[in-house]
Amino acid sequence: MDRRLNQKLEQEYNDGNTIFVRNAGGCPSGAKNTLKRLMEENEVKEIVILPHTDCGAMGAVFKCMKEGEKFDAEVTEKLVKNFEGKFLHTRKQLEFEENPRQCLEEMKSIGNELPKYDEKVVGISVKLVELQPTAHQSSTDNVIVLMSPSTAKYSNTFLTEMNHSYCIQADIEDSMASVKLATAANGLKLAKIYITETNSVEQKKMLNAITEFKAKLGLGQLQVFLVESGKVTNVIEAKKKIKG
Ligand SMILES: [Zn+2]
Repeated sequence: MDRRLNQKLEQEYNDGNTIFVRNAGGCPSGAKNTLKRLMEENEVKEIVILPHTDCGAMGAVFKCMKEGEKFDAEVTEKLVKNFEGKFLHTRKQLEFEENPRQCLEEMKSIGNELPKYDEKVVGISVKLVELQPTAHQSSTDNVIVLMSPSTAKYSNTFLTEMNHSYCIQADIEDSMASVKLATAANGLKLAKIYITETNSVEQKKMLNAITEFKAKLGLGQLQVFLVESGKVTNVIEAKKKIKG
């Protein structure tokens, strides 16, 4: 979901034929239900997994495993649990070796759960993207774009905030752990969530999940926007929504 990947993804993969699924850490098992659904609904020929270095989610995994830090149950279930029982050496080894290997294993085992899956037909590869560490961004940069897995061109979808936006693309049940990690990474000061979704049923599910999340955590500074046809059509007033 890292914002530093947005431009690379648009330039190298956004060919109108590629469905993007994005979550914290690029972990297939964290988006298992989404991936299974997509593989059942589409004739998938190739799966490319793109974990990256300087990854906040891998930082969280490392803290949990090496320093005993505790995370939210959903984050643990979708992300940390996958590494349980594995001996992680250094953060660098986790990002360069252990996580890419883990991504590949997880994706293969998801495929094997599908009756019609044929590993000779579906190519699976992992390409680690090396990113340079960046300084902490100001609060005006803290944007999450939440949308369904899609082939849509990013520059048509992201409004003006493409370089500043975390992007989460998974079914909502698979998205919330990533939303939690993205907000935690910003010290719970995250300013805006844009729900960019054309399917109104899915959009309503996303909105309900985010509203509930916000109410539970009491995130006063979190604003939620609905985006339709490339325009912000609705701003959800948090207080009204929570009362309702
Ligand atoms: Zn990351």
